[in-house]
Amino acid sequence: MIRSLAVDVAGEKITHKAARRNVTVVQHPLVAAKLSVLRAKTTAPEEFRRNLQEISIFLACEASRHWESGTIEVQTPLANCAGTLLQRPIALVPILRAGLGMAEGIQRIMPQATVGHIGLYRDEATLRPVSYYHRLPSNLSEAEVLLLDPMLATGFSACQAVTVLKAAGAQRIQIVCLISCEPGIKQLHHAHPEVPLITAAIDPELDNRGYIVPGLGDAGDRYFGTD
Ligand code: URA
Repeated sequence: MIRSLAVDVAGEKITHKAARRNVTVVQHPLVAAKLSVLRAKTTAPEEFRRNLQEISIFLACEASRHWESGTIEVQTPLANCAGTLLQRPIALVPILRAGLGMAEGIQRIMPQATVGHIGLYRDEATLRPVSYYHRLPSNLSEAEVLLLDPMLATGFSACQAVTVLKAAGAQRIQIVCLISCEPGIKQLHHAHPEVPLITAAIDPELDNRGYIVPGLGDAGDRYFGTD
């Protein structure tokens, strides 16, 4: 079973504070080990891609922990038994570019998911997101929606993307990210306090370019080998 705890930046349990803020830090040795591979600057794009896809599966498992399900009857080769059927459609919405890698991984365990895309880029002067594209599934109001972005840095992009999703009718949105940080969490909590965040780590700070420190660098560049 994946153990998830709310923890503070130093890794200590602070379930009350983080739970109040709807933040879940997934605690699992495989997640921690894969995150370390992703952080290492010597990790080549090929290995980075594989690990980003795989770690995203663990995070999606945690995000889906409380999804509504119903009971069905299943016939095994030997007998009938009770089985489980998910009640809602699933929509994966990666923020371009780096979110694509997370969607790629999660689709392996949720192949029925529809996939929307939100294109935001960061204006390097203001650090604010500029929207240039979105194309979303039509069933968002029914769906469990996972908004995917590996890095929750300033939080502005995630907040803007949640606003886009809400405007399109989404009602069950969760943000799944690899590494978050306090400023991003605060921003998200301020703008969309009811939206849960599932993350593998909360890093201490942002640098003056808006990168998470220690983080892992530019997730998109590392995933696509463009750095
Ligand atoms: N985006 C990234 O890819 N990395 C960061 O550290 C912050 C935003």
